[in-house]
Parts: sequence; structure tokens; C-alpha cells
Amino acid sequence: MPMPALDPLDLYDVRGQLSDEERMVQDSVARLVDEKVLPIIQGHFEKHTFPRELIPELAGLGLLGSSIEGYGCAGMNSIAYGLICQELERGDSGIRSFVSVQSSLCMYPIYTYGSEAQKQQYLPRMAKGELIGCFGLTEPHGGSDPANMKTHAKRRGSDWVINGSKIWITNGAIADVCVCWAMTDEGIRGFVVEKGTPGFSAPEIENKFSLRASVTSALYFDNVVVPEANRLPDAAGLKGPLSCLTQARYGISWGVIGAAQACLHQLIEYSKDRTLFGRSLASNQAIQVRLAEMGRKITLAQLLSLQLGRLKEAGRMTPSQVSLAKWNNCRAAIEVARDARDMLGGSGISAAYVPIRHMLNLESVITYEGTETIHQLTIGRELTGINAF
Ligand SMILES: Cc1cc2nc3c(=O)[nH]c(=O)nc-3n(C[C@H](O)[C@H](O)[C@H](O)COP(=O)(O)OP(=O)(O)OC[C@H]3O[C@@H](n4cnc5c(N)ncnc54)[C@H](O)[C@@H]3O)c2cc1C
Repeated sequence: MPMPALDPLDLYDVRGQLSDEERMVQDSVARLVDEKVLPIIQGHFEKHTFPRELIPELAGLGLLGSSIEGYGCAGMNSIAYGLICQELERGDSGIRSFVSVQSSLCMYPIYTYGSEAQKQQYLPRMAKGELIGCFGLTEPHGGSDPANMKTHAKRRGSDWVINGSKIWITNGAIADVCVCWAMTDEGIRGFVVEKGTPGFSAPEIENKFSLRASVTSALYFDNVVVPEANRLPDAAGLKGPLSCLTQARYGISWGVIGAAQACLHQLIEYSKDRTLFGRSLASNQAIQVRLAEMGRKITLAQLLSLQLGRLKEAGRMTPSQVSLAKWNNCRAAIEVARDARDMLGGSGISAAYVPIRHMLNLESVITYEGTETIHQLTIGRELTGINAF
């Protein structure tokens, strides 16, 4: 019996490692991406708009806060969350970013550090997509050093007065709820600031070359008054925001695999169809070596994320392990996208092909949630015990 051909996008049969339920989640998100995301995404990318019309669809499949138990959330496992990110980012990194921020950066801190009243107030409506969230950590003077934040909150009676600014905030201008991190006399604390609170504004950053189908904003806090009831009671210190980033980075490590798969998939078809020098492009050794490199990078990224997911499920995942996967997989995906763009020749700069859109998006993804260098320094610290930041 000849061995069946391997799936070019899953050479090590990672799918065969999944439970029936995980496969079902992957298939339903894949269908959503094929039917609802791919037909519209290039148009939104060109117009620099976020496809808000997708929010009910994402909510309908339980993709918002998918790992949270209760509060109207789906309570799926970590592998399922990873697969959701992977399939969504096969569509576009902007859609995955929306879900990452809503789920890991806004719902997660409310769920983990919030009061019961805060959970009841926000989580069910966020799961339904009725409320959109954002996460304000990065500041204009340097996102890599969040401990040095300038935004501050001062107690005034039973209220807090917040002043400062944030930059590069995903979903900011469309968010109803902002989890804002600010320095207080007691250290870093998290606050829920609602849209419309006097002194709070979130103007969109226009004219990005990357993540054009995602809203990115500045946040301004000008004597913004919030009651003590809006402080996340269980968040203390930098550990609060960093733990949210660990959740989101985990999802990113899976997500970028989808972007790379989309590029490889299109490139395989293209290189078989295109005839140069009397034979298909795909029959050149130099092209096959480059395709093989892509297959290798995607396979290693898949195995890293799968094992990371298993560690997460077992409660043994560490931030350094997440750094390694975020760094490796973003690097792999951007290299695949750039090389795919090149192998498409002139067509590679056309909107008719996906690699250039993924390539441009991945410039953001490799930068946000910790730049590549920051993750390398994290691994360096793990290896040496020396903090070189
Ligand atoms: C599209 C987009 C969406 C984003 N969404 C969000 C969001 O929702 N919420 C949020 O809070 N933030 C968000 N960010 C911000 C993002 O996390 C930051 O851009 C990122 O952390 C880097 O910070 P920075 O841009 O200030 O660069 P900097 O910190 O100024 O870094 C500049 C360069 O210096 C390097 N560097 C820094 N420190 C060192 C060092 N010690 N040694 C060597 N090199 C170093 C970095 O690697 C980088 O190459 C988003 C960013 C983008 C682009």
C-alpha cells in the first residue's frame, strides 16, 4: 500500500493530534474564514477599515473570550483557542488581533483580576460582541519598558483620577471598555475606563501600512475620574498586564502559522501553474528548496505551538516558553510571507495575491506584544540568569 500524500500545510499531521472537539472548532472557524472573511478582507485592507460586520459572526461561534468558563463564554481549551487564532489569521492578522485583544487582553484581565460585579457587568456582553474592549499599556516613550509607565492614577476620596496617554492601541477607537494600566502610589494598577467618560478620548491612527483591517488608536486621559469600583481589585504590579500578554502571545504563536499557511498554499498553486523556460516554476530545484524551507518553518512552528498548548493545558506553561514560540513563529511566518511575495514575481505586489498583505501585517505582529529582541532577551535571561534588558 503506498503511503498517502502528506497535507502540504500540515506535514507532521498536527491535526491528527487533535480531539474531535478541537477539530470541530477548527473546521467551523475555517468555514467562517472561507465564507465570510476572505471575500471581504482585501477590500477592508485597501480602505483601511475594520470589518465590524464580522463581530456577530465571531461572537456567534463563541470566539470572544472562548477560554473563559461561565459568563456566557464558551469555556474551550487552550488548543482550541490556538486553532481559532490560526484559522482567523489565515484570513487576516487584523481579525485575529481583534479577537486576541477582546479575549486575552480585555476579557481575561476582567475575569482574572476583576470583582464579581465587574465580571457580571462586562463579560457576558463582551462575549456577545455587544461591548468591544481594548488594552492600554504601551506609551509613547517606549513600549518595551512598561515598568517605566508615565500614565498615573491618583486617589481622590473614593475615586481615582487618571492622567496620561497610550499609543498603538488595538480596537481603541471602537472600544466601549478600556483596561488601562496606570502607575499609582502603590504601584501599577488596572482600571476599567468606559467610552464616554469625560476627559477620555481614543483617536484612530490613520495611514498605517500594516494591519490596515484593524483599528489602532492613541488613548488620552485628561483628568479622567473613575470610581474605586472600576479598579481591578486583584491586579497589583506589572504582573497584571504581563500575565495578559502571556495569554495573547500564546494565541499569536498559533495565529501567525495561519498567515504562513495561506502564503504557502497560494504559492504552491502558483508555482505549479506558471510556466517559465518551458517548464513549471515548481519543477526548478531552487524553487523546491525554497518551498521546502517554508514547509520546514511552518512544521516547526506548529509543533512548538502544539507542545506549548499542552504545557498550558497542564498548567506548566512559562512566560519564557511563550516568548520562544512568539519569537520563532513570528520570524518563521514573516520569512515565509516575504519569500512567497518574492516567488510570485511582479504578481507578488498585486492585491490579487495574499502574501504581501500577510507580509505587511506580520511587520506589526512581530513588533507588538514584545518585539523580537525583547523575546530574545527573555530567553537570554532564562539561559544565563542575567537580566540584559
Ligand atoms: C499595530 C499595533 C497594535 C498594537 N496594539 C497594542 C495594544 O492593543 N495595546 C498596547 O498596549 N500596545 C499595543 N501595541 C504596542 C506594541 O506592543 C509596541 O509597539 C511594542 O511593545 C514596542 O514598543 P515601541 O513601539 O514603543 O518600541 P520601543 O520599545 O521604542 O523599541 C524600539 C526598538 O528598540 C528595541 N529595543 C528596546 N529595548 C531594547 C533593549 N533593551 N536592547 C535592545 N533593543 C531594544 C526594540 O526591539 C525595537 O526594535 C501595538 C503596536 C502595533 C504596531
